[in-house]
Amino acid sequence: MTTFADPVPGGRPGDVERATALGAELAGRDVHGVVLSYVDTAGVGRVKTVPTAGLRSAAAWGVGMSPVFDTFLANDSVATTDVLGSPDGDLRLYPDLDRLTVLAGQPGWAWAPVDRATQEGEPHPGCSRTFLRRVVRDAARLHGITFRAGIEIEWMLGRPGSPDGEFVPATTAPAYSAARQVELGDYGADLLAALAAQGVDVEQFHPEYAAGQFELSVGALDPVAAADRSVLVRQTVRAVSQRHGLRASFAPAVLARGVGNGGHLHLSAWREERNLHAGGDRRYGMTADAESFAAGVLDRLPALTAVTAPSPASYLRLRPSQWAGVFTAWGRETREAAVRIVTGTAGRRERSANLEVKPVDLAANPYLALGSVITAGLDGIAASAVLPEETTGDPVRLDPARAAACGVRRLPESLAAAVTEFRRDEGLRAALGPLLADAVIAVREGEIEAVAGLDDERVAAAYRWKY
Ligand code: GLU
Ligand code: MG
Repeated sequence: MTTFADPVPGGRPGDVERATALGAELAGRDVHGVVLSYVDTAGVGRVKTVPTAGLRSAAAWGVGMSPVFDTFLANDSVATTDVLGSPDGDLRLYPDLDRLTVLAGQPGWAWAPVDRATQEGEPHPGCSRTFLRRVVRDAARLHGITFRAGIEIEWMLGRPGSPDGEFVPATTAPAYSAARQVELGDYGADLLAALAAQGVDVEQFHPEYAAGQFELSVGALDPVAAADRSVLVRQTVRAVSQRHGLRASFAPAVLARGVGNGGHLHLSAWREERNLHAGGDRRYGMTADAESFAAGVLDRLPALTAVTAPSPASYLRLRPSQWAGVFTAWGRETREAAVRIVTGTAGRRERSANLEVKPVDLAANPYLALGSVITAGLDGIAASAVLPEETTGDPVRLDPARAAACGVRRLPESLAAAVTEFRRDEGLRAALGPLLADAVIAVREGEIEAVAGLDDERVAAAYRWKY
């Protein structure tokens, strides 16, 4: 479980002693530096690092970083509002020692995600990890509900060297093919070894559809741990790729056309060790709460898209018939529906039944995405929401009358349309809090402006190596 305790000046209880012992242990394992990692509002992973000897001080007092990163854009410029993006002030980054991991793919380094606090020792209202910790804590305290989550990771593997950052696939072997697995067998084995050494339980790893594309899925964890893990897995994929002379892109659309990289979310809600998505009396074994949770997510998807698909490039991926789930539709094992009910295999449904949300990519800040989707689902439970009719097949082929009967609508087709939906969704903005909600809007609008007038190819190129 992730700690609900916020960091405080002097350190969370026990952290200074732990950091002292961990620092000594790391030094003994030839670890020289610790990467302190967080994800900004634009979805870019940012870091500070400290030498191993500095871990103790970081745990006690945090490490300084400007609040300007709340409105950093993917191109490293800063969006400003009347309160955000100012050069003034400082924040403290506190590592979560429970997650400290020696990086097998980057010898000499360890890694830990951080929570951001103010200089006065208060949680920073723009901290996405703190936001998700709050959502999870409140779900447990107020509703008696806990969650298990997993984020799928897709990437396209390229050959570096092209000065203009063009994508040259590392392999042209077919989708899902044995040939691709063989061609990159050493790479895959090194990646699996590094992840295993880091305690990441990989469930599957396969050559995916697009040229040079791979996908990796991991076991479910509590949502904060799942978001941390998604960041750690990407750090590892990047490092192992580089050691093999290759380059990984997690961008939603590496190329302007064709299938992109998704970051599908898997979520299950639990009450007292019981999976609410199995063994119930609603369709496909859902309990009433699980159905309402799914209905809540489905209903809010247009606004959620501004959080889960935050890049102009996200909308190159979010096109029909590319398994990205671009319609407000749900179905059992339907790969074109935005919300897919996963029942799992007979015999292990109590463990594995869950909900998959597809219009999510890896430009999304995973903490914001999970926190926002969970908020929508919990609102669905509070309202005893019910699912509309199920769809089967590709919703793009539904006749309009049937689509209307099933509540099927196309999700926003541009980032600007998603921001309009987000602005309208007061509940979601309130859950994020005014600072984080304003940061989301400012950053999305900044990204829209950054690509104004660019054609699809240039938009894809602008974000290809950012995430
Ligand atoms: N690459 C697809 C996407 O963009 C997903 C393929 C799959 O279902 O694994 O979401
Ligand atoms: Mg996939």
